[in-house]
Amino acid sequence: MPRYRGRFAPSPTGALHLGSLMAAVASYLEAKVRGGDWLLRIEDLDPPRMMAGAAAGIIAVLEQYGFQWDEEPIRQSDRIDRYEAALARLMASGAVYPCSCSRKEVAAIAHAGIEGPVYPGTCRTGMAPGRPLRAWRVRVDDEPVVFPDAVQGECGQRLQSDVGDFVVRRGDGLFAYQLAVVVDDAEQGVNAVVRGADLLDSTPRQIHLQRLLGFPQPHYAHIPVLVNEAGEKLSKQTLAAPLDPDRVSETLYRVLVLLGQRPPVTLIRASAADCWDWAFSHWQLQSVPSRRQIEC
Ligand code: GLU
Repeated sequence: MPRYRGRFAPSPTGALHLGSLMAAVASYLEAKVRGGDWLLRIEDLDPPRMMAGAAAGIIAVLEQYGFQWDEEPIRQSDRIDRYEAALARLMASGAVYPCSCSRKEVAAIAHAGIEGPVYPGTCRTGMAPGRPLRAWRVRVDDEPVVFPDAVQGECGQRLQSDVGDFVVRRGDGLFAYQLAVVVDDAEQGVNAVVRGADLLDSTPRQIHLQRLLGFPQPHYAHIPVLVNEAGEKLSKQTLAAPLDPDRVSETLYRVLVLLGQRPPVTLIRASAADCWDWAFSHWQLQSVPSRRQIEC
């Protein structure tokens, strides 16, 4: 068996909140209980969405909560050349094509898919002359992409009908999350991805890119995302409260309960180290609820 390599990959768009801590805790425990490595990757690819100081804040809070990562954290903004190289390979094999369609044009003709309009393939056979380059898209087909998820069971999509040819690089040069995450997981040797179920619908696109680039497919486990009473995912936009640095054990206790574990109530007043000790010896991925969402 190869050594287990897991990771936590926060986007520094704001402070860590209970929902993001759940993904950190689940990925960390799964890696440590299996005697593996746990890596930290800062996904700071999209400058307009980044918040100044958020990456340092996330790292500081993870330290306060007692997480220990096994390698220097990496930042996607330092790795643009790696994404360029992967895109060049996709171009060379004809897997991607330039597209001149604007969002508005796509929305006007496309039917609704899993995450917005399904691109109908207008530029597949070439862009009309004189039109601007608005994106590089990867070709997909309608073969089902199916994968086992350790929490959610068997999952899958037909990319052509559910998503359409999807963007890997925008016209302004920005690389899409889908491409960056696949390149990074492969180059960091990540073979197990534990993350929020909001990314479950992205996974078939990532598997498609792994296949095109000849990368191995990691094992996946998508844990439920925390939503508020209105059913909205906790985020900066829904004003999720940042984690309280003075209530580490109380918060870890709450996260363990949300993750379907049964920590003793005495942990609420224990030290962070005692919480982790309990968690290292009791963590069970099978106990995590196999739901996409849970209300907090
Ligand atoms: N950066 C993504 C997020 O914060 C997570 C990416 C991943 O785990 O694949 O939602």
